[in-house]
Amino acid sequence: MEPLGDLGVDEVAQLVHTGAMPERDDVTGVIDEAHARTIGLDDGEVATYIPELADADPRLFGISVVGTDGDHYAVGDADAAFSIQSISKAFVYALVCETRGHYAVREAVGVNNTGLPFNSVMAVELNDGHPMNPMVNAGAIATTAMVPAGSATERWEIIRRGLSAFAGHPLELDASVYHSEAATNQRNQALARLLESYGRMEEDPLEAVDVYTRQCSLVVDAHDLAVMGATLADGGVNPVTRERVVSEQVCRDVLAIMASAGMYERSGEWLFEIGLPAKSGVSGGIVAVAPGKGAVGAYSPRLDRAGNSVRGQRAVAYLSRTLGLNMFAAHDVGSTVKRSWT
Ligand code: GLN
Repeated sequence: MEPLGDLGVDEVAQLVHTGAMPERDDVTGVIDEAHARTIGLDDGEVATYIPELADADPRLFGISVVGTDGDHYAVGDADAAFSIQSISKAFVYALVCETRGHYAVREAVGVNNTGLPFNSVMAVELNDGHPMNPMVNAGAIATTAMVPAGSATERWEIIRRGLSAFAGHPLELDASVYHSEAATNQRNQALARLLESYGRMEEDPLEAVDVYTRQCSLVVDAHDLAVMGATLADGGVNPVTRERVVSEQVCRDVLAIMASAGMYERSGEWLFEIGLPAKSGVSGGIVAVAPGKGAVGAYSPRLDRAGNSVRGQRAVAYLSRTLGLNMFAAHDVGSTVKRSWT
């Protein structure tokens, strides 16, 4: 596996901030700086395996930060529209946890990282047909099939309404992206059939793939991602609309899985360097959540080999450092006793 590499933040002081987001002026300055520092990066490639995604403008780059108090900040192309893709997996998982409960979903879908790419068939085979987690395609398709509904059409409507509640406004389907992926997603169909062969699909596998493909084609922008993430940071209440979307317990479950598997096989490195639960998608979006504080939404279409936005990762790394968002960082309360073991 290729390492995540230098994130360009090693020289940036690590601010530790255990309460809320820093003050408004500080966040504004820092988000502008995150954009300015990373916009020059032009390595990585725009995804092409879904033909419609190949047309994305690689120059686009937007960042949005939304606090649990509803305050929001944006820089660059934060209102550029793109299909949500894999980021939908985290939020559909939340809807399923909310309706089916912690244990049922944990048993059926799992919570461990596969260590393999998001569309790996081998990951399913190596684990006796278990999908492993809801952030890889196999687990996400199985999760979508678990949304309680009388039909595939109703399942899709529940998902669309649920993700819209996370975003705080009705999300629309990008029909071109949907048709483009539906015509080329034989691999996802194969994954669903493979799960079926192991008795791990609750619904018709091809119908589940179709609903999954639709959920991936919902249109968002970086600001929407930040609001959706901030809803998870806010214990399930959308900080803009004040609607309760899911419970606090569900947010905790979703954030834990985002931490372990949200950045695919790079999740360990991501957590080590950035210290935030996050989810990325192949159209170039990333949402990173600071529990209790807020969330960052970033969009830039050039991806590294794992399928994560190159600029987005580095911008979030910078924000995590400078806004004091890393969940694992804490200041000591002061000590008068010298280290006893050296
Ligand atoms: N719809 C895409 C797929 O199933 C989502 C993948 C992704 O964003 N990583 O391949």
